[in-house]
Amino acid sequence: MQTDIARAFDLTDRAAVVTGAASGIGRAASILFAKAGANLVIADRESGALAETASEISKLGREVVPVVMDVSIRSEVEALVGTALDRFERLDVMANVAGIMRNAMFLDVTEEDLDAIIGVNQKGVFFGCQAAARAMAERGGGSIINIASAGMDSPAPDISVYAMTKAAVAMMTRSLAIEMGPQGVRVNTVAPGFIDTGMTQRHWIDGDGNQDLEARDTMWGQMSARVPLGSIGQPEDIAFAMLYLASDASRFVTGQVVRPNGGVAMP
Ligand code: NAP
Repeated sequence: MQTDIARAFDLTDRAAVVTGAASGIGRAASILFAKAGANLVIADRESGALAETASEISKLGREVVPVVMDVSIRSEVEALVGTALDRFERLDVMANVAGIMRNAMFLDVTEEDLDAIIGVNQKGVFFGCQAAARAMAERGGGSIINIASAGMDSPAPDISVYAMTKAAVAMMTRSLAIEMGPQGVRVNTVAPGFIDTGMTQRHWIDGDGNQDLEARDTMWGQMSARVPLGSIGQPEDIAFAMLYLASDASRFVTGQVVRPNGGVAMP
């Protein structure tokens, strides 16, 4: 049995695909996976910031292929997995991180917003799981990591559709874990608490990049007050949980929801 700590978390020469890699949690996970030795295919829908993530990974001496795509389009997700197989001839880790949030009270949710959020958060993750699970099963196994949210544990106003999609991701993870376990494919979900990323910064940084620091401090204060550990989280806090699930350290773990959330939800 392998008990060496560094080796248990080592991803040397493994191939990982990470969506949502231009920003926040996806970016932090991509860089951490590269630090652990992985080669990467990183994806997002915007090229500029994705290129910055790619540059950080290249500086670490790992191979990286940036792909501009949309996770809500099945053919683009299948092509993304195909890129990893073409380039690295293997797929060890698939991290379905890309996600969106649009705030609206339940009675005001438009069909357009409903379709957009389901398209990215639910269908995008479904497509990623399906394409990766097929590729991994053919090659003897792998680890799929989906991102949900503490929003699936604690109902809050104006995020009903987001919370619904994240609960669906957790249940889909369990269903897939049951089916794919015999083929060596592990499937887990990470459900972060409130994290300092583009998704949350939009409440205090406007479209032109202007920051309202008072609004930030108010929001961070309110969020931290609800958390037993007394702070909001950083993208790296989630990336470390993802590294655990990506690596052999979690080889006996599948179908689980891991909750790096400061204790804000303890279901
Ligand atoms: P983020 O900084 O906004 O990163 C998400 C990335 O996904 C963005 O670069 C975004 O691009 C990209 N993306 C969105 N739709 C896409 C699509 N259709 N195809 C490809 N890429 C797409 O937010 P984050 O906080 O890191 O979010 C990562 C994941 O964590 C999400 O699933 C989110 O729901 C989850 N999460 C976040 C928090 C939090 O507090 N931050 C808490 C719990 C869960 P655009 O910028 O162009 O939209």
